[in-house]
Amino acid sequence: MVELTIVIPCYNEQEVLPETVRRLGEVLGDLSGRGKVASTSHVCLVDDGSRDQTWSLIEQYAGEQTFVRGIKLSRNRGHQNALLAGLMTATGSVVISIDADLQDDLAAIEAMLDAHQAGAEIVFGVRKLREADTFLKRFTAEGYYRLLGLLSVDVVFNHADYRLMSRRAIDALREYEEVNLFLRGIIPLLGFRTATVCYDRSERFAGESKYPLRKMLSLAWNGV
Ligand code: UDP
Ligand code: MG
Repeated sequence: MVELTIVIPCYNEQEVLPETVRRLGEVLGDLSGRGKVASTSHVCLVDDGSRDQTWSLIEQYAGEQTFVRGIKLSRNRGHQNALLAGLMTATGSVVISIDADLQDDLAAIEAMLDAHQAGAEIVFGVRKLREADTFLKRFTAEGYYRLLGLLSVDVVFNHADYRLMSRRAIDALREYEEVNLFLRGIIPLLGFRTATVCYDRSERFAGESKYPLRKMLSLAWNGV
C-alpha cells in the first residue's frame, strides 16, 4: 500500500493553518480507513521563513497529531524552494504537493492516487476554470503559458504545483540540481508515464495572497 506524504509550503499562513491541518487530517483518515493509503501517511508542512506564528503552530500540531510533520527553512527562500525542500525530504512512496490555502480541491487527491494506481508516475492537477482569478491574473497567466509554449518549454496548460509524484519521479527530479527553480517546467521533462486530473479552484479561504507581483515576476522569469 502507498504511504502518502502531502507537502505544503507555508509562508505566513497562521490564518489558514488550523483549518488546513483539520481538513487534511480528515482526508488522510478517510483514505487510510478505506485502504487507499497506509495509516502512516502524513502531511509535511514546510515553513518558508515565516514571520508570524506559522512555525509555532506547526510545532504544536506536530506534537499533538501523528500525521503532522514540519520542516523549517532558515529564511524566506520562496515558494519553489520551499516546495523542493519538502519534496526532497518527503519519505512517502508517493508525494502530493498542494498550497497551504487549499484553493485546490482536495477531492482531486483521491483521483490522483487512482491515476497513480493505474500506472502514472506523475499526475498533474489541472484547473478547470479560472473563475476565482481576476481578469488580469487570468489574462497574464494564460498569456504567459502561451509564451512558454512558443519558447518550446514543455508546460501543462493551467497546471501549477498541485501534483502527485512517485518515488521514482522524485528521485529523477533530485538529479536535476536546477537553481532557477520553475518546477512546473522541469517536472514534465522527467519523462515517465503521466496523467492529468481536472479540478475546480476556489478562493483562498483566509489570509491574503503570499505571491506579490515581485515574486510572481521572479517565478515567471525563472520559467523563461
Ligand atoms: N509561499 C511560500 N513562500 C513564499 C510565498 C508563498 O512558501 O515566499 C507559499 C504559500 O504559503 C502558499 C503557496 O506558496 O502555500 C502559494 O501562495 P499563495 O496561495 O499566496 O499564492 P496565490 O494562490 O495567491 O498565487
Ligand atoms: Mg493561493
